[in-house]
Amino acid sequence: AAAASGPGSALRYRPALGNAASRRARLRDDLPGAWQRGELSVLFQPVVSLGEQRVTGVEALLRWRHPELGDVPPAEFVPIAERAGVIGELQRWALEEAATVAVALPSAGAPLRLGVNISASHVAARTLVGDVAAVLSSTGLSPERLVLEITEATVLADGEHVVVDIEALRLMGVHVALDDFGTGHSSLAHLTRLPIDVLKLDRSFVSRIDRDPKSRALCESVVAIGQALGLDVVAEGVETPAQLGAVRAVGCGFAQGFLLARPLRHDQLTDLLSDGAGLLWPGLVGTR
Ligand code: C2E
Ligand code: MG
Ligand code: MG
Ligand code: MG
Repeated sequence: AAAASGPGSALRYRPALGNAASRRARLRDDLPGAWQRGELSVLFQPVVSLGEQRVTGVEALLRWRHPELGDVPPAEFVPIAERAGVIGELQRWALEEAATVAVALPSAGAPLRLGVNISASHVAARTLVGDVAAVLSSTGLSPERLVLEITEATVLADGEHVVVDIEALRLMGVHVALDDFGTGHSSLAHLTRLPIDVLKLDRSFVSRIDRDPKSRALCESVVAIGQALGLDVVAEGVETPAQLGAVRAVGCGFAQGFLLARPLRHDQLTDLLSDGAGLLWPGLVGTR
């Protein structure tokens, strides 16, 4: 557009749009194969059981370090991968990478669970069941350790197939979590149809739980629903001791957030687990 309309004109009239569009185009061009070039990595954020006071799982979070543009967040490049039609390949790589790390992790007590985010278009492509089966068999990860994190948007986008595929995955022993719970539409209706194991209470509620009575009431209700349906409830994005105290007080079983641990590289996670995996989680000391 800038070339067609003469030097400087795009910059002068629509700087933000021009920059954003050219960045997107650049990312779209460079993303395919970025994982073969070693530009992608997976970080692991611990999930802590508040009852047991230990790390019981990790969530795999993708990172892309573009050679010129630097760190690109997944919220930016995952949608680009979806539109470019490379999400299946990207997701297979991420699953394999995360599962390979998970099988090698030290643990005292039950082996850690591994949460992996799955995007709507991967579910819609109907390759998820086969992809998961392939990764379980190539890495030797036991299916009970894998938790696929999907959102309500995924369920809405492909109502019938998604239930069939999730049922197939659960027959294999894989667990399923509803991510960002509370932010989607008709959450309660989904719960009666969907065979899931975990609710992840969205950070937007957790961030206000200690200051806003309505957010706190909502968190309490989600915990009650979880209890009634036999689901684990994980509070996402716990950043302060006051939030952690409130999360505990409403009876939430699990928490994840910067207060407890940031997303970590494989070696950092291994170090953390080696000094005292299964013992008192340092971030929780004094917060009880
Ligand atoms: P999500 O699944 O809800 O992941 C939680 C996000 O919250 C992560 O952001 C994590 O770094 C961030 N977070 C954790 N604790 C805190 C906290 O205490 N405070 C704040 N402010 N943030 C916290 P991240 O890594 O940027 O990922 C963003 C989203 O990108 C994820 O949201 C997920 O939807 C998507 N994503 C990440 N990895 C993958 C992947 O492998 N595949 C797919 N399809 N999507 C992914
Ligand atoms: Mg998630
Ligand atoms: Mg989430
Ligand atoms: Mg979230």
